[in-house]
Amino acid sequence: MPGYGRRFFRACLPCAGIPTRGIIYPSFACRLDRQLNPINGRIVAHQHLQFLPAGERTNSTGKAIKNRILLSIPDSEYRCIRPHLEFVDLPHHLKLHEPHQSMQFAHFLNEGLISLVVVLNGGKTVEAGIVGREGFVGIPAIAGLSRSPLLEVMQIAGDGFRVPASALRDILRSAPELNRLLQRYAVILGLQVAQTAGCNRLHGIEQRLARWLLMAQDRVDSEILPLTHDFLATMLGTDRPSVTLAAGILQKNQIIEYNRGAVRILNRGELEKVACECYAIIQQYSDVNELSPSLTQS
Ligand SMILES: [Zn+2]
Repeated sequence: MPGYGRRFFRACLPCAGIPTRGIIYPSFACRLDRQLNPINGRIVAHQHLQFLPAGERTNSTGKAIKNRILLSIPDSEYRCIRPHLEFVDLPHHLKLHEPHQSMQFAHFLNEGLISLVVVLNGGKTVEAGIVGREGFVGIPAIAGLSRSPLLEVMQIAGDGFRVPASALRDILRSAPELNRLLQRYAVILGLQVAQTAGCNRLHGIEQRLARWLLMAQDRVDSEILPLTHDFLATMLGTDRPSVTLAAGILQKNQIIEYNRGAVRILNRGELEKVACECYAIIQQYSDVNELSPSLTQS
């Protein structure tokens, strides 16, 4: 996925076969995350990462798994959750969870993009966070909560898997690595939500629009994003004319192209220059398996 800190990763040749945290995952593609001292070129930190290529696992009906958390857990834990993974098509605007309603399922995306949306009295909305195949939604359910005030809605159509919340809670009792990854993701998503709150309050619409487009592209892995100005205005907590103006500036500078309800990113490098600092901060904390060692080691 673009923008996920790939510069840190190398093939794990020197350390192949060394157990990670005392656990050996023989079937996993092992990679070494190493950070080099820019002066002497020595490794200053490294950790092993394990995940399978997209599609290497399937659910019980043969649907390929692309969700990165489900590709990251040991085989023994995957066998526990596999029978509960129900494949679901997720069309645009499908509501996965309504505010304050009982939360029945957690969802793990293969494709598409979910928005977590704050809905206020009178119908005004603002986006609090986004989730793609790097994460999951249903965090309150795994924490023993049955409801949440946030709306979970598909903003870019896709597909994925749903798991009954009660089944997931049972599985987690005997799946420590899955439990660890879901808890880590819950924290990461909380940081994204907090940064988004600050961004919506303090940064300009052009910066926010650039930040949002970059985050969306990271999660759907496509240069074309099916989005309308009305949708973007809702998600950015502003009005349509403001989005049209900001998008017009980006289009005039040949950074994006907007056409018939879709945004094409023409120049990602320039878009990163326009985005506020929030993009880089959120990007650091996006993937449970690709955090920089400086964030995970004392
Ligand atoms: Zn910002």
